[in-house]
Amino acid sequence: MEIIIAKHSGFCFGVNRAIDMAFSEAEKKDRHGRLFTCGYLIHNKDVVRKLESMGVTMIESLDEANEGDTVIVRSHGEPREFYDKAAERGIHLVDTTCVFVKKIHDIVSKAHDAGVPVVVIGDREHQEVKATNGWCGYSAYLIGNAAEAEANVGSLKGYEPIIVCQTTIKEELLREVLRVFDEAGIKYDIRNTICNATRERQESCAELASQVDAMVVIGDEHSSNSRKLYEIAKKNNKNSIFIENSKNLLLNRLTKYTKIGCIAGASTPE
Ligand code: SF4
Repeated sequence: MEIIIAKHSGFCFGVNRAIDMAFSEAEKKDRHGRLFTCGYLIHNKDVVRKLESMGVTMIESLDEANEGDTVIVRSHGEPREFYDKAAERGIHLVDTTCVFVKKIHDIVSKAHDAGVPVVVIGDREHQEVKATNGWCGYSAYLIGNAAEAEANVGSLKGYEPIIVCQTTIKEELLREVLRVFDEAGIKYDIRNTICNATRERQESCAELASQVDAMVVIGDEHSSNSRKLYEIAKKNNKNSIFIENSKNLLLNRLTKYTKIGCIAGASTPE
């Protein structure tokens, strides 16, 4: 059996950086106060468990931390008020927000200050989108598909919104939404903020999936970029399976194939 690993696979730059920062903070001997992550640092349970074993506890909100504690800001980012609240309460932050996500915060914040409407294409339930919305006063139009774009174009008539993308969406979704805007005659300023790591993984996933007998996608079920890789794999190869780690790799489903492709999401360790 031949196993081919996709050209672009596994930890991306942003996740690597977040993990390095979190582990080096956890190893510090001279820290006063407790050390927390707020929400999942990255969408990978093995990494979260390893941090727990080093004494880093996960909290759901800043209210659970006290003055003098340290909170690691997750790679998907937090809204502006999170930083204000931490400063007010004397909570130290270690900010692992990915630089590409920070760039989006900057774009929407400036647009909001200038009175320009903001459109975010992505999943409204995802932390990255929630945090981004928190940098433009929660005024963003959150659009997750073409139908939602159609439902919103009426309110955007006469404006020229700035459009940003959740870093992990598929290019296809961006194209669909822009088509709706074009058909409605709405002018816009598009900033394609889909991250290169995402784009490269998606392209190499499609390419490899179409060349092999079966495709294995490895990632956490809560990882948006991993689930999208699975959708892409499935579209190009009906024998695609999604697994979290080697424990759920169902070998009996794979022995009949001779060429198997393998790709891991951006939050999956090597
Ligand atoms: S996928 Fe891109 S935006 Fe997201 S953490 Fe990785 S490098 Fe940053």
